[in-house]
Amino acid sequence: MTTTHGAPRVLLRRLREIMALSESGESRLARIVVDIAAIMVAEVCSIYLRRRDESMELVATEGLKPEAVHETHLARGEGLVGLVVERAEAVNLPEAQDHPSFSYRPETGEEIYHSFLGVPILRQGRAVGVLTVQNRTPRHYSEEEVEALQITAMVLAELVATGELGLARAPGSRAQRDLNGVTLSEGIAIGHVVLHVPRVAVKTLIADDPEHEAKRLAKAIDRLRETIDDMLARGDVARAGEHRDVLEAYRMFAHDRGWIRRMNEAIVTGLTAEAAVAKVQNDTRARIVRQTAPFLKERFNDLNDLSNRLLRMLTGRTTAADEDLPEDTILVAHTMGPAELLDYDRERLRGLILEEGASSSHVAIVARALDLPAIGQADSILNFLETGDEVVVDADAGEIHIRPTPDLVSTYQDKLGFKAQRQAQYAKLKDEPSVSKDGVEIELLMNAGLLVDLPHLSESGASGIGLFRTEFQFMIASTFPRLDEQQKMYSQVLDEVDGKPVVFRSLDVGGDKVLPYLRSTHEENPALGWRAIRMALDRPALLRTQLRALMRAANGREVRIMLPMVSDVAEVLAARELIDKETRHMEQHGYPLPEKLLLGVMIEVPALLWQLDQLFHVVDFASVGSNDLLQFLYAADRTNVNVSQRFDPLSAPVLNMLGDIVSKARAYNVPLTLCGEMAGQPLEALALIGLGFRSISMAPASLGPVKAMIRTLDANAASHKLQEVVAGESAQIRRHLGEFATLNGVEI
Ligand code: PEP
Ligand code: MG
Repeated sequence: MTTTHGAPRVLLRRLREIMALSESGESRLARIVVDIAAIMVAEVCSIYLRRRDESMELVATEGLKPEAVHETHLARGEGLVGLVVERAEAVNLPEAQDHPSFSYRPETGEEIYHSFLGVPILRQGRAVGVLTVQNRTPRHYSEEEVEALQITAMVLAELVATGELGLARAPGSRAQRDLNGVTLSEGIAIGHVVLHVPRVAVKTLIADDPEHEAKRLAKAIDRLRETIDDMLARGDVARAGEHRDVLEAYRMFAHDRGWIRRMNEAIVTGLTAEAAVAKVQNDTRARIVRQTAPFLKERFNDLNDLSNRLLRMLTGRTTAADEDLPEDTILVAHTMGPAELLDYDRERLRGLILEEGASSSHVAIVARALDLPAIGQADSILNFLETGDEVVVDADAGEIHIRPTPDLVSTYQDKLGFKAQRQAQYAKLKDEPSVSKDGVEIELLMNAGLLVDLPHLSESGASGIGLFRTEFQFMIASTFPRLDEQQKMYSQVLDEVDGKPVVFRSLDVGGDKVLPYLRSTHEENPALGWRAIRMALDRPALLRTQLRALMRAANGREVRIMLPMVSDVAEVLAARELIDKETRHMEQHGYPLPEKLLLGVMIEVPALLWQLDQLFHVVDFASVGSNDLLQFLYAADRTNVNVSQRFDPLSAPVLNMLGDIVSKARAYNVPLTLCGEMAGQPLEALALIGLGFRSISMAPASLGPVKAMIRTLDANAASHKLQEVVAGESAQIRRHLGEFATLNGVEI
């Protein structure tokens, strides 16, 4: 009663023949179970598929009573079929009825069968069905038989998924599922899933010539190893967000003998090279899904990624960026580099979901620049969705709803509609003056950092760029941008803004802004470390190159340069010396000098507050970097969510400090702005205006709400209110200002 070693191959050949018949899915399934039973020398062969209510429905059988088909539904976890689903692995029992999970269903007539072998039909590591064989006599099925049934199940899984059997896609896996992650870029999006790295649908599963397939696999593995070696050698591993140790781990796996052996064994059973890769990937996933140890999951992620690469090599597919995207693409990836995101057509992107990705990651910076709602750290999400699934990305709340119910979709559509309405109202304001009710003009500028930000300038109605974070170009590059590359970018910016002012901030790297290609030593407190102007003055060539690029890009136009993280006036003087040197160099070499060069500083280190008299003598303008200034004032790390929210920017210490800066700047007649996040919050902006700020710079999306606030505000009344609340009880300032706004009809 044992089968021959060739069983899997015979089975696969039969499956192929059956699939070639032009018959209904039902009748093909009926043939499949008959043939499997015959080849496996079993009296029974049955197929169960998962239904929406998570039950397992008998959809085809040879040996059990035909009336039971579509009638027998096993509840979740019920019977041996339930056990196979739960374990997501084969259950092999000589005496099935002795097993505590055995559940007797009289309609099937299975009481006469003793031995049972059931294997899961797996999709993305989840059992969407079960394939079983049974025999009258008690027997233990051999490893080859288990293997044969598993391979058949794999083929069935593909057929179920592609709808080739005429059945609906395994419906149980299609239920709504909700996941949480962290917000990388705010906003809400509804759309359809596109996998950044497409899962390669293995279309040809069965091969006639195992030797040929083994050669294809060996060749692909060689190429895979070569590409990993290349990536390691190139040194621009940062581009894809892949760090060296990850690649080292990849290299190790690419030489893993166990992995390669298992794939070759699958080929011997009659699978194509790609089907063999997918089979081993599926088996591993099923095993790992049930593990909880994080390092095992990590290991699986690496192996999974490697399998996908191998599959792409065997089938010649690359990333989804080259393909036709739906108009409402929600891009989903394990991880992604910033440049890769920029490869996509923004017009078609609605949202982004990453399994990894912190809010300070580079891809998050780009997502924010693109105004693309994005969620990171969506653990294992790739296991739960497929291309084409509908998804709601609520990046405001950090929630993801996969295959949402129609009710949920319509709730979110309402939200989006409301947002769009507000946006439309703000858009109407874009050409209206930014003037308060009592005639005080407030300059509204925007923050930027990439070329993709520039269209926001006209869209938002900002009167210039108050902060251009030049480090973004450096952060998304794979190698240090050369002089000509920097110059090209800056001149493009100046060309596009069409005469509006732009404040270029010199390189602010270090701290949480890491350049992967720039070797840095480990620092205990990077925010207080060797960063920004400190690094620039210690490595003058760095700043010199950037100054040269900026001054050449100006090409006779005005240029404004701002120094970050200044803690001592001497640093401004040192930078000024470098500028003078550069000016002389340009003169000597006949370059046109900028019409005007304005040098400013960011006020973001508290020590500078007691040097304002000297500082305002030597700078042309200043901007308060409230993000850093407040983190240092309150000794609360801005990147640490446990402490960054502990203080309120609308508190007496902050407002007093900002008020002092405003008075000093006025006394010295130095133009002052504020470009931290608080400028973009209407109530905070109200407070800033009350303190005397007449210029603020913010993310483009904040311009509308802030301008709406300004146009309904009496700036003089706000100033009185500020004086009053600052003198009062510190903890109540936000409440009092809120009440002031409501009482006076200020839109906040
Ligand atoms: C700030 O510190 O407030 C600022 C605007 O600069 P960044 O956020 O880039 O540090
Ligand atoms: Mg800063």
